[in-house]
Amino acid sequence: MSQILLFWLMIGGFMLTMLAATAAHILQECSWHELEEYCHQKRKPDRFGRIFDLREQMHLGNVILQMIATAIATAAAVCWLLKRRSVAEVSINEMLSIFALVAFGLILCSSWIPWAIARIGSHQFLFHTWRWWWIVSAIAWPFLIGANVVAAVFVRASGKHDEEDDEEEAFEDEILSMVSEGEHDGLLEAETRDMIEGVMELDDNDVAAVMTPRSKIDALEVNTDWDEMVEFVVNSGRTRIPVHEDRIDNIKGILYAKDILRESMRSESKRRPLARLIRKPMVVPDSTLCDEMLNQFLCHHVHLAIVQDEYGGLAGLVTIEDVLEEIVGEIVDETDDDRADEIEILNKNEADVEGHVNIDVLNERLGLTLPEDQDYDTLSGLIMSELKEVPRSGRELQFGNVQFKIQRSNRRSIESVRVTVLDESEEAIGNQGKTNAPSRKSG
Ligand code: ADP
Repeated sequence: MSQILLFWLMIGGFMLTMLAATAAHILQECSWHELEEYCHQKRKPDRFGRIFDLREQMHLGNVILQMIATAIATAAAVCWLLKRRSVAEVSINEMLSIFALVAFGLILCSSWIPWAIARIGSHQFLFHTWRWWWIVSAIAWPFLIGANVVAAVFVRASGKHDEEDDEEEAFEDEILSMVSEGEHDGLLEAETRDMIEGVMELDDNDVAAVMTPRSKIDALEVNTDWDEMVEFVVNSGRTRIPVHEDRIDNIKGILYAKDILRESMRSESKRRPLARLIRKPMVVPDSTLCDEMLNQFLCHHVHLAIVQDEYGGLAGLVTIEDVLEEIVGEIVDETDDDRADEIEILNKNEADVEGHVNIDVLNERLGLTLPEDQDYDTLSGLIMSELKEVPRSGRELQFGNVQFKIQRSNRRSIESVRVTVLDESEEAIGNQGKTNAPSRKSG
């Protein structure tokens, strides 16, 4: 082959390597959101869908093209630099120079230039050249079949089946790693990252994990008279109260505090009874996922739903605030402030304590000696620092002779804890002088 032909073969090979490497790199790293916007800007919105659907096929086609072009460029460059001599006629130094030159050319064309082009404008490049890459992938179809067959064999051998779930998980992982990267680079606040994580994990929890349980519901009997009802609503401080007939499982509707206000404008004789003031309740099974629950709240324009267990009994109630807390963390409203130090003593050895109660308040109220001089201030802080995570409901921890059982927790904090003093005879709640040195056991 003549030197001129070899020279042009080498140049062509390098050029093709560069273009295929650029396309392969961009098809993998491109910001699809930017490409979508660019397509809209150029009034070709359909083009985005076509490129996006074919991205994997085009990427593989370009990887194959890049390999073929690299092989041609390398062979042509070596032959051209040898200048019709055999390898034996070339000195070691010259051989090393040829190797260095070819390697430099390949690195330049398959890595540096593609990176630079991708940084200047990956979506513009893809928008204008995608047809070529589609043709490449169409030509490379036998290789694509090979790739699919090998992938199928590997997947089967590894025993992986649920492809859709895998894909979803991989997609979520990808977003979360981008978010971590953003936080690391200082582009995202830690709170924003937590919120994004919260949104993505909304479908991991069902409403049973975030609801207010049946035992804590402030509810009214449907035959309650006006004065008693008003007093109950004022004392509970609730905006919405479930109303039941006879048993609490038999929920008839929801009473809105604002409806009482409106009704109080009427003269006493014209006021409607409670049964006619209530609104239709939204009822959901306890297996409803939080993302689905949020959708239902938004679609039906209600903020509270009654949660039923599998036997149709009342499991609890859930409000939009409970679901949003999974995203933004604990929301403390004005009335929560009033209840800030909630400790409910159940018997001489047990109490239900809100996670945000300060350790010193807890020690004082229950006569405990839990450590007060640590990095945390609250009961929630103490438990989380022991367990090194936010525990799920039902988790237990023993601290000295005090046992904590998590009643309710959300993604970020512990909401309610059952505190039990184990040594009944000496250390009864409210009558306790000191606790033993802490020993920790968690389950
Ligand atoms: P409110 O406006 O009455 O404070 P939110 O919708 O802000 O109610 O919810 C705050 C918290 O109070 C949530 O955890 C929710 O589950 C709980 N909650 C709301 N209504 C009741 C009720 N009637 N009985 C018991 N808990 C309730």
